[in-house]
Amino acid sequence: MRIVVKIGTSTLAYPSGRLNIRHTEELVKTFSDLQNAGHELLLVSSGAIGMGAGKLQIDRPQDMPTKQAAAAVGQCELMYTYDQLFNAYSHTVGQILVTREDFNSPTRLMNLENTLYRLLQLRVIPIINENDSLATEEISVGDNDTMGALVAKYMKADLLVLLSDIDGLYTADPHTHPEAELIPEVKQITPELEALAGGAGSRLGTGGMATKLMAARLATAAGVDMVIANGADPLVLYDIVAGRAAGTRFVGRRA
Ligand code: GLU
Repeated sequence: MRIVVKIGTSTLAYPSGRLNIRHTEELVKTFSDLQNAGHELLLVSSGAIGMGAGKLQIDRPQDMPTKQAAAAVGQCELMYTYDQLFNAYSHTVGQILVTREDFNSPTRLMNLENTLYRLLQLRVIPIINENDSLATEEISVGDNDTMGALVAKYMKADLLVLLSDIDGLYTADPHTHPEAELIPEVKQITPELEALAGGAGSRLGTGGMATKLMAARLATAAGVDMVIANGADPLVLYDIVAGRAAGTRFVGRRA
């Protein structure tokens, strides 16, 4: 299977912006094992701005120049960490930084696809993020949930997994409604479902349920199944890949 996994900042880092070593190490180990089992994996990883802010010992920046500077620092930290951790399992990673323009221009999109395909042929795990240091709001994809869906669509993935700090989509916001229940499968994204999705979740990330549902729309329309699951337990990826119940699965449109 070709699988795109998106990892949110809240999984990779503590609210301080320091690396969550336990989560990250377990994730890398699981990805490496899935790759060894013959799957093709692409990672869409957030964390540049959050980890940059952590390293610079500043609060998550709100203004564009500081966001861009924090991303430049944090992206290095992020790739250094991945490179070291994947190396322990003899896997090679490659960094790809993109903005919305790369998906909008046919030539750039073709270049992106070609590079990603070649990396996969070479058994390299591509690690994709927005080019936050150069992207301004007008030209950015804006959130990595959408980025994950775009990558899954254009790379004709079988599955997109969004790993977040929540177990999946609930019947209400579980932070404020303890009686809320997890929705295991979604066959159609209705206006009622969209009404369940609030704003952004954590302090460090930019996503939230709203961007996840947007990603689900994009992915399922392209025929890709999408699962939202909790990144705190990376072993959940084994269940997801095997098609067992885990998190919330959005069923892709079949041709
Ligand atoms: N590209 C951003 C970063 O690396 C994250 C965007 C997102 O969390 O959706 O910090």
